[in-house]
Amino acid sequence: MKTKILNIGVIGVGHLGQHHVKHFKNIDNVKLIGVFDINSKQASKIALKFNTNKFESLFNLIKKSDALSIVTPTNSHFSIAKDCISLNKHVFIEKPITKTIKEANDLIKLANKKNLIIQVGHIERINPALLALKPYKIEPKFIEIQRLAPYSVRGTEVPVVLDKMIHDIDILLSIVNSPIKKIHANGISIITDSIDMAHARIKFNNNTVANITSSRIAKEDIRKIKIFQRNLYCTIDLLKGITEVYQINGELKSTIQAPFNYKGNKKIITYTKPKIQKTDPLRAELINFINSINGKEKPIVKGEDGRDALKLAIKITKLIKRESN
Ligand code: NAD
Repeated sequence: MKTKILNIGVIGVGHLGQHHVKHFKNIDNVKLIGVFDINSKQASKIALKFNTNKFESLFNLIKKSDALSIVTPTNSHFSIAKDCISLNKHVFIEKPITKTIKEANDLIKLANKKNLIIQVGHIERINPALLALKPYKIEPKFIEIQRLAPYSVRGTEVPVVLDKMIHDIDILLSIVNSPIKKIHANGISIITDSIDMAHARIKFNNNTVANITSSRIAKEDIRKIKIFQRNLYCTIDLLKGITEVYQINGELKSTIQAPFNYKGNKKIITYTKPKIQKTDPLRAELINFINSINGKEKPIVKGEDGRDALKLAIKITKLIKRESN
């Protein structure tokens, strides 16, 4: 069967949107047909840089495309995505999917009715350091996640929970297969009028506990996950691309083995540092989007996943606000 060449448009070509443009220029089975941005100068700059068309009308770009990337600020995701889906186009929406759960549900319902793909840009799900855990049976009992970043004005229109923590919420929901039992959350404003630093302790029905800390007021970038479970402990450095796995009596090939005794039984701790694929996660998620439209793959992060991450992020934000009043 011959794969269809898809006409792709990019809406919003600021900091991140221009990278969508760059990748779509070099993905098989894709014809980038142009960009639209309400900042006309920015649209011209990016169209010139990547040798593509600048559209003056959003409607015309949508009409001429088979699928679109929506890389505008979150408060515009819903109305733009709704226009695209209404015109029977597949959409890749940057995270968070929308501002409200109702908006997300409305988009999902409409897309499902029309058999269209909604993919959400929770890029960390495709981070090669996280994907390196695939050969292991991950059944966490305790998870610690830390995401710290130096202050930047971008993203401060929303609480840190919706800008940064939502990445980790999405990862967490993808690795713990159980409903949530209880949430404790705290947070503070440091520079902005919104929450700049947040902590959430999430307990699941299967008794797994996750501690997530996110801050946009930090000296340096840190993005780390630690997973503890029976006979296994692993650390994932999402930023540096390093994954390390310690297993009791691990069967996988390991570089270091440390024998020890417990209750008279000889056990071995094996240490493994899986080889991390050198892939560009944004390019990988856009290829996954194209392959999903062509029926070759399933979207790694579906609209429903984006909605679930948003739901938990909004709940945590509300709890923090209630705690601090
Ligand atoms: P940005 O401000 O740099 O760029 C946004 C662009 O959208 C601007 O050029 C602006 O003129 C344009 N725009 C605004 N409203 C528009 C509208 N209604 N129609 C068309 N164009 C419009 O922002 P950014 O950092 O590129 O972020 C864009 C989106 O990407 C946000 O949803 C953000 O949360 C998300 N994001 C995701 C990640 C990630 O890791 N996945 C990283 C950064 C940003």
